[in-house]
Amino acid sequence: MTEKRKVTIARGDGIGPEIMNATLKILEHSGAQIEPEFIDIGEKVYISGNTTGIPDEAWESLRRTKIFFKGPITTPQGGGYKSLNVTIRKTLGLYANVRPNVSYAPFIQTKHPDMDLVIIRENEEDLYAGIEHQQTPEVVQCLKLITRPGCEKIVRYAFEYAKKNNRKKVTCFTKDNIMKLTDGLFHKVFKEISVEYPEIETEHWIIDIGMAKIADSPQDFDVIVMPNLYGDIASDVAAQITGSVGLAGSANIGDQVAMFEAIHGSAPDIAGKGIANPSGLIQGAIMMLVHIGQADVATRIHNAWLKTLEDGIHTGDIAKGGASVGTMEFAEAVIERL
Ligand code: NAD
Repeated sequence: MTEKRKVTIARGDGIGPEIMNATLKILEHSGAQIEPEFIDIGEKVYISGNTTGIPDEAWESLRRTKIFFKGPITTPQGGGYKSLNVTIRKTLGLYANVRPNVSYAPFIQTKHPDMDLVIIRENEEDLYAGIEHQQTPEVVQCLKLITRPGCEKIVRYAFEYAKKNNRKKVTCFTKDNIMKLTDGLFHKVFKEISVEYPEIETEHWIIDIGMAKIADSPQDFDVIVMPNLYGDIASDVAAQITGSVGLAGSANIGDQVAMFEAIHGSAPDIAGKGIANPSGLIQGAIMMLVHIGQADVATRIHNAWLKTLEDGIHTGDIAKGGASVGTMEFAEAVIERL
């Protein structure tokens, strides 16, 4: 019998607790060998007076278990505290953000039934380094930080991911016609490293036309690697094209620690209503189980989840006006099909 693996879990904010409880119920019934260590981070912690939003005991748990399963966290817009997601990714060195986007036609309505692409987003640098200055009362500045070691790490990760997962092509998106030094370096490193993988087809698109192509013909893409901010935007667009942002999961990979989550946020507009789609977090759980060596359980959950969709059991974001179930009902339907 597989030994239980300790996993640090944060339920998160907004719809976080609802989708996390639903996903944990599926994990419990699936035979997944995990031992949860729950931590509180985010809004609640700030409100209680901890200005970092992450208590010491949460860091200790993360450093001990090295596996983090996280619900979405609210970050205030245009002011207030710094994003905990960015802090966690940078502090734990989670340099690669892996975001698969797959169409499930005909069970989930989409204009692009053959879409099956993976966005590999650089996860520590770029405008997300959060270096912003008020230069004068009327001028503000944000630094875009790109390093050669950062580019090498993420580009190599993308090619190695393609190799391991039998993917045939790696595409790079940058805006190096305008940001000639920063995005220029990312593209240059992509060209250098691609030579080491002659069996993999490569291409580069300037991000604006690249995004237009994802919207029009996503089936032409396989693995796509790009700097941090572009990857964040591209993966929401790609997930929505498959049917909903609520469908996609995400792995944040570092040398020591890995974090798994849904790609979407805390969806305050539907929080507390019990209607959120738990699928993105379920996908995150499946990626986590593969990462910790429990691929058999991951496959069982994935098959049960697919069967649930095939049987027409959909949350509101997918049903788009048709009959729909709530978050927990969806999870229970998955459990029935395990
Ligand atoms: P969002 O992804 O939370 O929501 C965007 C839209 O998609 C909303 O209409 C929402 O109802 C819908 N949606 C999202 N997830 C859904 C689900 N599982 N089922 C059904 N519908 C779903 O984006 P936002 O509103 O821009 O951000 C809200 C908060 O989340 C912000 O504070 C933001 O900073 C944070 N955020 C956190 C993460 C993270 O923790 N990784 C990621 C993105 C945004």
